[in-house]
Amino acid sequence: MKSHAKSVVIGGGVVGCSVLYHLAKAGWTDILLIERSELTSGSSWHAAGGFHTLNGDPNVAKLQAYTVQLYKEIEEISGQSCSLHLTGGVMMADTPERMDFLRLAHAKGRYLGMDTELITPSEAKAMFPLMDETNFVGAMWDPVEGHLDPSGTTHAYAKAARKLGAEIVLRNRVVELTQEVDGTWNVVTEQGTVKAEHVVNCGGLWAREIGRMVGVELPVLAMEHMYLLTEPMPEVEEFNKSTGREMIGVLDFKGEIYTRQERNGILLGTYEKACKPWSPVNTPWDFGHELLQPDIDRIAPSLEIGFKHFPGIEKAGIKQIINGPFTFALDGNPLVGPVQGLTNFWCACAVMAGFSQGGGVGLALSNWMVHGDPGFDVWGMDVARFGEWATLRYTNAKVRENYSRRFSIRFPNEELPAARPAQTTPLYDTMLANNAVMGDSWGLETPLWFAPKGSEAKDVVSFHRSNDFGPIGEEVRATREKVGVTEIANFAKYEVSGPGAEDFLNRLMTNRMPKTGRIVLTPMLNEFGRLIGDFTIAKAGEERFMIWGSSAAQKYHMRWFEKHLPKDGPRASEVRIHRFDQTLVGLSIAGPKSRDLLQKLVDVDISTKAFRFMDFREMAVGGAPCMVNRITYTGDLGYEIWMAPAYQRLVYKAIKEAGEEFGLIDFGMRALLSMRLEKNFPTWFRELRPIYGPFEGSMDRFIKLEKNDFIGREAAAREQAAGPKLRRVSFIVDAADADVMGDEPIWAKVGGKDYGTVEKPHGYGAPRFDAGGKEVRGSNAAEGASAVRGIVDGDWRVVGWITSGGYAHYVEKSMAQGYVPAALAENESAGLFEIEILGHRRPARINVEPPFDPSGERMRT
Ligand SMILES: Cc1cc2nc3c(=O)[nH]c(=O)nc-3n(C[C@H](O)[C@H](O)[C@H](O)COP(=O)(O)OP(=O)(O)OC[C@H]3O[C@@H](n4cnc5c(N)ncnc54)[C@H](O)[C@@H]3O)c2cc1C
Repeated sequence: MKSHAKSVVIGGGVVGCSVLYHLAKAGWTDILLIERSELTSGSSWHAAGGFHTLNGDPNVAKLQAYTVQLYKEIEEISGQSCSLHLTGGVMMADTPERMDFLRLAHAKGRYLGMDTELITPSEAKAMFPLMDETNFVGAMWDPVEGHLDPSGTTHAYAKAARKLGAEIVLRNRVVELTQEVDGTWNVVTEQGTVKAEHVVNCGGLWAREIGRMVGVELPVLAMEHMYLLTEPMPEVEEFNKSTGREMIGVLDFKGEIYTRQERNGILLGTYEKACKPWSPVNTPWDFGHELLQPDIDRIAPSLEIGFKHFPGIEKAGIKQIINGPFTFALDGNPLVGPVQGLTNFWCACAVMAGFSQGGGVGLALSNWMVHGDPGFDVWGMDVARFGEWATLRYTNAKVRENYSRRFSIRFPNEELPAARPAQTTPLYDTMLANNAVMGDSWGLETPLWFAPKGSEAKDVVSFHRSNDFGPIGEEVRATREKVGVTEIANFAKYEVSGPGAEDFLNRLMTNRMPKTGRIVLTPMLNEFGRLIGDFTIAKAGEERFMIWGSSAAQKYHMRWFEKHLPKDGPRASEVRIHRFDQTLVGLSIAGPKSRDLLQKLVDVDISTKAFRFMDFREMAVGGAPCMVNRITYTGDLGYEIWMAPAYQRLVYKAIKEAGEEFGLIDFGMRALLSMRLEKNFPTWFRELRPIYGPFEGSMDRFIKLEKNDFIGREAAAREQAAGPKLRRVSFIVDAADADVMGDEPIWAKVGGKDYGTVEKPHGYGAPRFDAGGKEVRGSNAAEGASAVRGIVDGDWRVVGWITSGGYAHYVEKSMAQGYVPAALAENESAGLFEIEILGHRRPARINVEPPFDPSGERMRT
């Protein structure tokens, strides 16, 4: 074994081997994979080997499509077969709600280049005759599904990586990881120590334990999983013979079952409700190529439904039941990327569908390591998406919930209960007493809406408008006409201070920094000129800035801030960054009476002239030391008031008492989001994401290209000069009883006209290399835009996609935001657009100016 390497990859499962292959392909050949036992000694060897492209996150779906496409390449390079069976598959809906879910997935596929098709149960039966089609109301066909040989595939990656110069060391466990002052990792193994610049945790079942070697508790847990294999079945053989085809894969939501042909019989796996974690605290190092004891009782309820839905299978003899462990993160997507707070420690773990996702994970991670950026929008699998609240016990509860709901519908207004409440503010009990329906906002309990007194504070989950519609309308109207108060503790809050603070922020942000006592709004870009943040920044003092941003992106943004801190020399100590998390909480008051209300609580003049729109002041509110921003996301006259948690009850009580005479109402996050819609304000992670440029995102007025050189400036200047291809727009939708949820296709009656791209971007041009080390661009399914298929209907074409929307209660309109080709972005013509909601195309019209207070007078008064 060599003593030095550019990078050590720990773990020789399918993911580690894919990472090794992609690193070698990107030109890093001084790399070493270290495997405790033989390749595939974790969960990879006993996988069912199924693969598919569908994923709730369109960006992860694209990386899955890339994975499937990659198998041919690694087979060619390695000479090792993956035994690929591209059979196609169906998802079976047994209720109208599940059919709605499939309609949504199918609609999304329209701009993702997926060839899915909605079909009848009888059509599905023709491809899988073992089913009783009368149990179902409909189905969705996906041609890019199938199965492969897990061991052969892992070895194909490994052989291909070796051919490109990578090394693999077997039967050698990594026992310790330490880091030198200069950042070099000591990878201590049973066979000696390797010094490495980078370490990648591909430890699969032991990823959690490897995290602990560097002091990190990764939110990953292994669950037991069972599938059964039948004896050979004459029906299967007969079908193969008469059609010349293999039977397809079938997913049955009701039974939580997936099934497909395996040799001459059937494989049937379950995601049972009574699921069981494996090794909830510590994973034994001596676990080898072993299987767990099957527990048929646990999966009996699923099998009962399965045998009813697929009576053909019930008759077959069961040859074997496989029970093996594999890992999940809290939401079922992988944990990929650099771990915040550490240098050059990377993760590619919690990959629960290694044969659908392994290739995409390897590609994204190798781009990130070699070029400093994944090259794609990988938020859906970024290791930074979970916070400190994701402790071992939290993870145990949440992963169990996720596993047991793997095939359940998640409604857009559905909050999941496991591991809650985790974090609460001092107002939690008060909000419950006020009949708040609470939601989970990055581990924090946050009021969503307030149910009428005497009614149960609970969402009725639905794809349609639900029981919150009336109360949210009340909250919005009372706020817009009088005054409302809401908790905003769930915003991210940072302080950047020191003599270098302003220069630092000027280098990171696209807007000019404000003068002392003033506020600016500013996006943040990466080197490719793509949006990676959107902040409110106040200059609190000569060398002190307060920053507010998206709650869920706290670790993601801290990682970026830390990466760009001055590191060496005299300037290294000139900038300090502090993330408050829940040590700073907040309340926002908004509406025409909010100034009168606040004036009663403070001893300074806050008249229009004395405390202008976008001013920041430190002042006592109701006797508590606070920071106050004259700005709110409602787009109305209003204030954000920030305080230490110890003061939050005092301030809230003071606001409630002072607000009585003005008709003050409590409002929740959903009312806030409704109000931002009628102001055309974007949200982070929906409208604004790393796949968009700042001009595409219609953030033009916050991009000051003429100020100092900031990260992404050159690329942004290029985008502006060339003209953005896409534009973010707002729509008013002629909806029925359901509003958009996000990811719906936008149709336009363009006739024969060509309005340019209609393709959703996923990557943004990080260089990529072919096996010979030659740079290639746009060469794979995951990069760049999706192929466009099946989206033309006479004069109508799919020209874009919705990012978010809902009902704008004050203006009484269903609204949506999304992206369309720039040439269409200012076209407000009626009859030009339709938005597909739950399978029905609804007329929609672009509104360039926000329907509420277009001149912005209300917030400036
Ligand atoms: C019953 C079952 C059915 C499944 N069906 C499917 C399916 O149909 N489709 C699909 O895509 N996925 C399926 N999976 C999941 C799939 O197996 C995983 O997604 C995949 O194996 C994850 O691969 P990995 O490389 O991350 O982890 P692992 O396969 O667990 O590999 C980790 C490797 O790291 C090594 N290692 C750990 N710690 C150290 C150390 N300290 N030093 C050196 N080496 C170390 C281990 O020995 C191991 O070889 C199934 C899993 C099970 C259990």
